[in-house]
Amino acid sequence: MTTPLLGTSFIGYSRSNGTEPCGSAVQPGTGIKLEPRYLTATPEEVEQAMALAATAFPRYSNLSGKIRAGFLRAIASEIETVVDDIVERGQLETALPEPRLRGETARTCGQLRMFANLIEEGSWVDARIERADPERKPIPKVDLRSMLRPLGPVAVFCASNFPMAYSVAGGDTASALAAGCPVVVIAHASHPGVAEIVASAVIRAAQLTNMPEGVFSVLYGGGRKVGQAVVKHPVTQAVGFTGSRAGGTALMDTAANRKQPIPVYAEMSSVNPVVILPGALERGEEALAEAFFGSLTLGVGQFCTNPGLVFLPAGKGDAFLTKLKALIEAGTPGMMLNAGICNAFAESTAAFAAAEGVETLARSVTDAGPGQGAPAVFTVSISNFLGNEALQGEMFGPATLIVRGTVEEIEAAIPHLEGQLTASLHASESELLAHGSLVIALQNRAGRIIFNGFPTGVEVCNSMVHGGPFPSTSDGRSTSVGTMAIFRFCRAIAWQNFPDAALTAELQEANPLGIKRME
Ligand code: NAP
Repeated sequence: MTTPLLGTSFIGYSRSNGTEPCGSAVQPGTGIKLEPRYLTATPEEVEQAMALAATAFPRYSNLSGKIRAGFLRAIASEIETVVDDIVERGQLETALPEPRLRGETARTCGQLRMFANLIEEGSWVDARIERADPERKPIPKVDLRSMLRPLGPVAVFCASNFPMAYSVAGGDTASALAAGCPVVVIAHASHPGVAEIVASAVIRAAQLTNMPEGVFSVLYGGGRKVGQAVVKHPVTQAVGFTGSRAGGTALMDTAANRKQPIPVYAEMSSVNPVVILPGALERGEEALAEAFFGSLTLGVGQFCTNPGLVFLPAGKGDAFLTKLKALIEAGTPGMMLNAGICNAFAESTAAFAAAEGVETLARSVTDAGPGQGAPAVFTVSISNFLGNEALQGEMFGPATLIVRGTVEEIEAAIPHLEGQLTASLHASESELLAHGSLVIALQNRAGRIIFNGFPTGVEVCNSMVHGGPFPSTSDGRSTSVGTMAIFRFCRAIAWQNFPDAALTAELQEANPLGIKRME
């Protein structure tokens, strides 16, 4: 079958007639293959999407922030016209409940509008003006003006665990389009139908706002085949990814080994350590256990910010553990996103349970059904923890490891942790002030540090940092949530001695956009 070319942009897939190799969404739990079936994009289709993106870049990147903002807002509005379709298909493909899918769709539209506001206001480009000084001694000073400009076409990989907010029109796409970069999306095999609905909404928005052809395309066929081809393609200038450490590091290798290496912004694995000090236990151990359990099991633990590692002072916290054990045992298994994630959860929890010195504190007394993940908590001494690197790994799902040691041992262990998206500290205010070096140690390992709270529930706003040292991300200088995400897809350019009329509006003497500049 031929690939439909939809006016302004492109969807690289075919609905299969059943005679060619193809993939379908698989309903979690039942294993039922959902119609329609989708064909892998051919090498010609990949080439077509890349050629369109290359052609779109000069025009799209030179549209004003106001016009690009109109495109982002139109995407949000078009998505809002198909929310019910997204929710219906999303439940079948991912087993996520309706409120979650509605909430995630609202977040997706909110993110698009947040970036629209940012680029309409315009000062994010960090315009700097240094005027010439011909009289300067010993040598005259040249006129230099600089600002951030888009990198070029960006490859975006959809995330299995965020079918909306980190997929076709999610945060990576929104920030790249906001920056002025065309986007080529690689759909995730877990939710191809949702991808199709959202991609169609983006393409309608592109047509309505008269965007250049090729500003957005979506390709089917997975990351290993089609995604690798897109990352290797010379037109691609950056990559946004959320998924496994193996997938993210494979893409980093591909990008680094290109003739022209390009940046990969991969969000991978994080266990989000939670450190509990005695002052927090004194406030109420049972309430703390309840709040922790809520964070651990939210969304069947399938969040990058899931708290998978806890440091609890040895000899304290008995009531916390007793309450947590009761909650875990009574906790019901939940349907996981796909069979791969479910199997990986079963394997990782089994490996933790069998590791030296690890004890199973509690498991749900209800057996997990097909496709389900059941809550589990393990404990280990700090020496066994530090002696086994594998215990720093991710159990992607509702499971956590509690490490017991003295407060001094806990503080000494923090610098040995891998990089994390978040670190949480539960303590009294006086403990917080008294343990400044612990706070700094946590800060050095994570992108967001939380006081007396839990890491799940990521606020989408200007100040959010959702990034962190490797392996939580491939580049700890960046964030994938919040408006600072736009900086991933830009580079600074300086113009020397350019006449005013030849400069972009942001750098012209009269400041026609009225934006804040460094002068
Ligand atoms: P994944 O296996 O990394 O897949 C995500 C995307 O990356 C898919 O499109 C996949 O394509 C692609 N990919 C995987 N390996 C690749 C490679 N070597 N080269 C190019 N592309 C590649 O992640 P997942 O399917 O979402 O979940 C699997 C595991 O990842 C989970 O069990 C969990 O441990 C982890 N995960 C972590 C987070 C987090 O935020 N920390 C989020 C989601 C998942 P294919 O379909 O071709 O494989």
